[in-house]
Amino acid sequence: MENKFSRETLCVQAGWQPKKGEPRVLPIYQSTTFKYETSEQMARLFDLEESGYFYTRLQNPTNDAVASKIAALEGGVGAMLTSSGQAANFYAVFNICEAGDHFVCSSTIYGGTFNLFAVTMKKLGIECTFVDADASEEEISKAFRPNTKCLFGETISNPGINVLDIEKFARIAHSHGVPLIVDNTFATPINCRPFEWGADIVTHSTTKYMDGHATCVGGAVVDSGNFDWEAHADKFPGLTRPDESYHGLIYTKAFGKMAYITKATVQLMRDLGSIQSPENAFLLNLGLETLHLRMPRHCENAQKIAEWLEAHPKVKWVNYCGLKSNKYYDLAQKYLPNGSCGVIAFGLNGSREEAIEFMDNLKMICIVTHVADARTCVLHPASHTHRQLSDEQLIEAGVAPDLIRLSVGIENVDDIIADISQAIEKVK
Ligand code: PLP
Repeated sequence: MENKFSRETLCVQAGWQPKKGEPRVLPIYQSTTFKYETSEQMARLFDLEESGYFYTRLQNPTNDAVASKIAALEGGVGAMLTSSGQAANFYAVFNICEAGDHFVCSSTIYGGTFNLFAVTMKKLGIECTFVDADASEEEISKAFRPNTKCLFGETISNPGINVLDIEKFARIAHSHGVPLIVDNTFATPINCRPFEWGADIVTHSTTKYMDGHATCVGGAVVDSGNFDWEAHADKFPGLTRPDESYHGLIYTKAFGKMAYITKATVQLMRDLGSIQSPENAFLLNLGLETLHLRMPRHCENAQKIAEWLEAHPKVKWVNYCGLKSNKYYDLAQKYLPNGSCGVIAFGLNGSREEAIEFMDNLKMICIVTHVADARTCVLHPASHTHRQLSDEQLIEAGVAPDLIRLSVGIENVDDIIADISQAIEKVK
């Protein structure tokens, strides 16, 4: 059904396809293991000679149904659920990078991803160079080395709300013989499908809009199936050379377009764990069923609030790519014509102190370490999510010290504005 239907229908119908007498609603397969008749049957699964379930750390029917819905929404050939967005981004890169390798990444990314790439992956011997995503192709190309294995960016960056020029990034990556990995968390496939613009791998923190109700942490990696690993076989030995842990199996030969996502599942997930629990996958699926209804409302509310903030005398600056005054307006019109996301960054007259005072004055809108939720919420990245970053790193990551990140929910927009208004009025 995947290619026939619109995104709206896929949100509701893709994934779980019950057969005669099976439950209409996706069941939670709350089982670590699966039964076989003979030892030989099970052995064939371990050798990847047959596909089937045997242990939930590798695959589980509930998770697979939800992963295939996400793959269908993104227009990919396959997907894998992970326990968090962090795990998704780690696996997406680690699937093709090993000690001694290098990759290039936009500097305006989520602080957690920045820490993972700049600090933790460095300890594994994988080095990352951060680049200004708005720089020219020539400038960004200078960061590439012979051992560079991928380019990484976020469709809409968290929390700077910068829009990535995906086609430009894809051209740069491909001219260096490496794939482009795009974290599409904020846009979701409802507003942008990076594969249509040349990205090869997409990742998600499903914790955000996909779940949408702040019930479960999760992630996903989606494979477009488009990158030709064999054409750059020397760069990607993990995919194009025998895997000792499967008796010499070669992923590109055995799985073709599914090579990358199969390796991520049967090798990385087998060895490192970080699965999404079937119960969380079930909840994620409920969220996905209304993603196409919620996203337009998030965007419509955010647009009105951004315009209202821009006109307010106590507001110094507003960053929302739906505003005509915004640096990323043209890119947003190109890549996100139906709306971007519900997240707005803004600053009040003053600095850190005024931002904190404003947040403390809010009544309905809560201060939470979260974003992209049905309920409007707010956060001060310099004091919270990005507090490990130095002032220099903050600026590089596009996070001003006075930046307030407002995640606009799906309540009545007038009620949200009323709360923001009373909180701003009280700021001295
Ligand atoms: N990617 C983006 C764009 C995010 O905003 C986040 C979290 O805020 C992550 C990845 C990490 O996801 P998680 O919190 O699910 O591990």
